[in-house]
Amino acid sequence: MRIAVSGGKGGTGKSTVAVNLAVALRKLGARLTMADLDVETPNDHLLLGIELAVGEPVNQFMPKFDYSKCTKCRKCAEACEEHAIITLRDGTPFLMPNLCSGCRACEIVCPVPGAILEDYRVVGHIHITPTPYGFTLVTGVLREGEERALPLVVEAKRRAIRIQREEGGLLLIDTAAGTGNTVAKAVEFSDLLIAVTEPTPPGVHDTKLILELGRLMGIPTWIVINRADLGERGRVYELAKKYDAEVVAEIPYSENIVRSYVGGRPIVLTDYPEAKIFEELAGKVLSFLGGGG
Ligand code: SF4
Ligand code: SF4
Repeated sequence: MRIAVSGGKGGTGKSTVAVNLAVALRKLGARLTMADLDVETPNDHLLLGIELAVGEPVNQFMPKFDYSKCTKCRKCAEACEEHAIITLRDGTPFLMPNLCSGCRACEIVCPVPGAILEDYRVVGHIHITPTPYGFTLVTGVLREGEERALPLVVEAKRRAIRIQREEGGLLLIDTAAGTGNTVAKAVEFSDLLIAVTEPTPPGVHDTKLILELGRLMGIPTWIVINRADLGERGRVYELAKKYDAEVVAEIPYSENIVRSYVGGRPIVLTDYPEAKIFEELAGKVLSFLGGGG
């Protein structure tokens, strides 16, 4: 069973919901693995108040030209959909590494054996960190300056699924903001999608996109309204009705949540009244999954 927590735009409180849901699920006795696939700005470990374990590098293929063999036919550059290979007037190919997706199309079309050699570059790291809360956190961290997050998201998710299989229980995924390809890849094959939003015009707009994504992928989608008292909740409910999505929780603006955020202590472990919201959400998730959806 996989649950993805997502939010249309950044700053909606997606990670706060994901982290507190993970700890609340564990409190209720559920076994789980958590994956932070917001690889450009991973912060679940900060909210959990832990340091990441040493990371393992994730390598990605890139071509290396052997100019003693290359016939300058330009076929590699023509095949590269990412325009990562530029050619000089005489056809000599050059690679722009940051644009390369590692698809190997250039290698496949090159007619000269040995003209393209295998090279690799580190696109980021995966950190597998045991937490004091009774679950493992898998975190993808994109290398600074790296433009392509997708290969790292794919690899971090694969590692998280492997750990989930070894340890049993649920996989809870915290995705990036937005609805781009990294979010779609993180959400893919989930049994439940939880969209965290706020009742503002941009929040409503972006929630619509997430709901579209859930509908396209055939994933039941729930909505959590954060800072529910600071906008027009009615518009979120209208949208939920249109997409047959249930609003499962409302979180008011709360200084207690801000305090727990800054202190790196999940609010669900405190005596603050807001802890109950996440405990109830975890209970709903378990009922949903226990009932097979
Ligand atoms: S591996 Fe793919 S993206 Fe990279 S240079 Fe070759 S064709 Fe282009
Ligand atoms: S396809 Fe091969 S031979 Fe042709 S330009 Fe590229 S590396 Fe050189």
